[in-house]
Amino acid sequence: LIRKLLEDIVMDSSDDEGGQQYLFKIVIIGDSAVGKSNLLSRYARNEFNPHSKATIGVEFQTQSIEIDGKEVKAQIWDTAGQERFRAVTSAYYRGAFGALLVYDISRRPTFESIPRWLDELKTHSDTTVAKMLVGNKCDLESLREVTIEEGKTLAETEGLFFIETSALDSTNVNKAFEIVIHEIYDNVSRKVL
Ligand code: GDP
Repeated sequence: LIRKLLEDIVMDSSDDEGGQQYLFKIVIIGDSAVGKSNLLSRYARNEFNPHSKATIGVEFQTQSIEIDGKEVKAQIWDTAGQERFRAVTSAYYRGAFGALLVYDISRRPTFESIPRWLDELKTHSDTTVAKMLVGNKCDLESLREVTIEEGKTLAETEGLFFIETSALDSTNVNKAFEIVIHEIYDNVSRKVL
């Protein structure tokens, strides 16, 4: 089992200095227009696009961080509009070690969809997944329809991390991804040791 786990995770067994390299898949899920692709572009490229584009087809970006002197790469997948057609398939979830479940704090129905996304994730995932509940668009305070307490309560009930972010003004975006990456790293180290 441990060998299988290592094969899945340590895609590239050594870097230039002979140390271990890790590559983890992370998926971003949630209703249309909650800001999934902007969270990813903000994190991976520090870019924000004010116009939502409905490009179809899965996209991912790779981002590296250093933990315990090791290079840890996250391959972060965006549904790229497929959720509009309920077409997010098991292939999208396969091999994911982390997930960001995103809603828009200014649109209550997107928060109410979270349990459905969580079910999807549980149905399709094949391993322990580090999960972060993300209340995006926290810059839209005057339009808020979901309180911070409601987010926290749902996260506690379901065993998720919780954070509010703004892809627009960058609030907590790096933190959201990095907490998930650290948690995956900890999960994996615990299993391997
Ligand atoms: P996706 O369909 O979930 O990938 O959502 P997008 O990233 O395409 O964003 C949908 C719309 O919301 C776009 O018009 C974005 O400019 C806008 N948006 C995304 N994130 C934020 C945010 O943090 N704050 C505000 N005010 N708008 C955002």
